[in-house]
Amino acid sequence: MTDPHLHDDLRGAVRELCARFPDTYWRELDAARAYPTEFVTALTSAGYLAALIPEEYGGSGLGVMEASIILEEVNRAGGNAAACHAQMYIMGTLLRHGSPAQKREYLPKIASGALRLQAFGVTEPTTGSDTTQLKTVAVRAGDRYVVNGQKVWTSRAEHSDLMLLVARTTPVDQVKKRTDGLSILLVDLRTAVGHGLTIRPIRTMMNHATTEVFFDDLEVPAGNLVGEEGKGFRYLIDGLNAERILIAAECVGDGRWFVDRARRYAGERVVFGRPIGQNQGVQFPIARAHVSVEAADLMRVKAAELFDAGRPCGAEANMAKLLAADASWEAANVAVQTFGGFGFAEDYDIERKFRETRLYLVAPVSTNLILAFIGEHVLGMPRSY
Ligand SMILES: Cc1cc2nc3c(=O)[nH]c(=O)nc-3n(C[C@H](O)[C@H](O)[C@H](O)COP(=O)(O)OP(=O)(O)OC[C@H]3O[C@@H](n4cnc5c(N)ncnc54)[C@H](O)[C@@H]3O)c2cc1C
Repeated sequence: MTDPHLHDDLRGAVRELCARFPDTYWRELDAARAYPTEFVTALTSAGYLAALIPEEYGGSGLGVMEASIILEEVNRAGGNAAACHAQMYIMGTLLRHGSPAQKREYLPKIASGALRLQAFGVTEPTTGSDTTQLKTVAVRAGDRYVVNGQKVWTSRAEHSDLMLLVARTTPVDQVKKRTDGLSILLVDLRTAVGHGLTIRPIRTMMNHATTEVFFDDLEVPAGNLVGEEGKGFRYLIDGLNAERILIAAECVGDGRWFVDRARRYAGERVVFGRPIGQNQGVQFPIARAHVSVEAADLMRVKAAELFDAGRPCGAEANMAKLLAADASWEAANVAVQTFGGFGFAEDYDIERKFRETRLYLVAPVSTNLILAFIGEHVLGMPRSY
């Protein structure tokens, strides 16, 4: 079991950085639906987003445990790591499956922040969670691929230099398994936008910089294929455990933020001549939310430890994501209830974080799909979909 104090220095340093970006910073960006460029630049310059990149490529070579602590602390401080978490983990596909030349070319620049690789185009409007049915196609034509199709919810595409794209290179009716025939391409957005690629922002209930991306005969050099053609689905799956654990940590950060704000407010707000937190009807839900967040954190720590030890952790990573998303949402609801009417006022930030944390019951994988995974792969029940 990891000593909970082992990472105190890291936590402290991230907290110090986050303290420069108070509630008002995030609140104003939220109102304007603007990207937290200054915050992301600070996090990048401090090297935190390169946590998972090996030292030989200019990163800090840390584990998923440390990376998850960094993101947890961002959300724990009232910020929203969704603006930049993908810069940490999307490169994992390149690191594990890219050619030596691709790694040499891109990873050091991603580590320094000179290149932002924080857009991942998987989800499509017509096929959703059913990834193997995605419709975007990449057809090989000499030394390039010609891409046609559409992605939805491609977050941070406007704030990314590169995008990892999942496209079908062999039609689904010509493959043995539906998971075959998908490939991963590295798209250089700096040259692609306006030349076969169009990005259209989607305004959402929270500030998330997410977009739709349209491909109209976009040409991508064949050299930008990551790994082998047709094996993209496997590469995609390889990256999911890290993503699940990191998102779980963000939810734990959110949950702790909500519990802390609710606890403080419950102690300060006096109604009927006493602090509202003296009433069990107010106090107990906050205590229960705390219990849920701490329990979820145990599974997140377990998953991170297994991951960093190179051991299988699919079940634990998925369970951590499910438990942490549930716990942060429980804590968010409790915080709104504790704040009463002020829970709805922008100035208290509860409603902003409430909107932000709600996402994680749906994305990057919905709770039902995690339950389907556990039911089938952990409990051995029949495939439900
Ligand atoms: C703000 C935001 C940012 C995102 N960022 C990205 C990104 O950067 N890149 C990217 O590729 N995607 C991204 N996504 C997409 C996200 O991963 C999907 O929204 C998510 O996986 C669910 O897919 P869907 O929205 O198509 O829902 P659907 O697949 O249509 O599902 C809708 C509902 O039905 C349920 N459901 C579907 N099938 C079953 C079943 N067989 N059994 C039980 N329940 C089922 C689901 O659980 C869900 O609740 C983002 C989404 C949002 C909202």
